[in-house]
Amino acid sequence: MGFPTSVADEVLVRCGRHCCICGEFVGSKIELHHIIQVADGGDNSVDNCIPLCFNCHAEVKSYNPRHPKGRMYTPAELKGHRDKCYKKYGFSDNMTKMDVDETDETIFTSKKSDIAVAWGYVEQDKLCPLLPGTLVLIAGYTESRKSTYVQHVANWNIKQGHRAYL
Ligand SMILES: [Zn+2]
Repeated sequence: MGFPTSVADEVLVRCGRHCCICGEFVGSKIELHHIIQVADGGDNSVDNCIPLCFNCHAEVKSYNPRHPKGRMYTPAELKGHRDKCYKKYGFSDNMTKMDVDETDETIFTSKKSDIAVAWGYVEQDKLCPLLPGTLVLIAGYTESRKSTYVQHVANWNIKQGHRAYL
């Protein structure tokens, strides 16, 4: 069984269809490799996946422990290559938090670190906690009070001693 489409879509966006080892943009000539093989208990998760070009995929799979030649690609090394590649093309290893530079980090870091940022709506905070640095997209029809809602969230956070930028 291969990776489900949802996993494939996510990892291919994250690497921008670049091979995570050699860094080449390879378009459709890309394959998804299981870092831990399914036969060895690996799953079809994003974490166990690394997008590779045909050459690098063949290279990674070619190591034969019964006849060692050169150095094998370890799971930790593969994840390292992959995370470096994802970072280069816009995402850190945590999809919920966009890569932010130091300036953004300063903006989003709360003044009082003991109080977490939140929506300020009890039910919503339970369902969907708001974390510092999270990029949130508020969508809705015209006149559906998107701006008012965002202002309420900002007001609540300002009252808690956080900085808010609209
Ligand atoms: Zn490659």
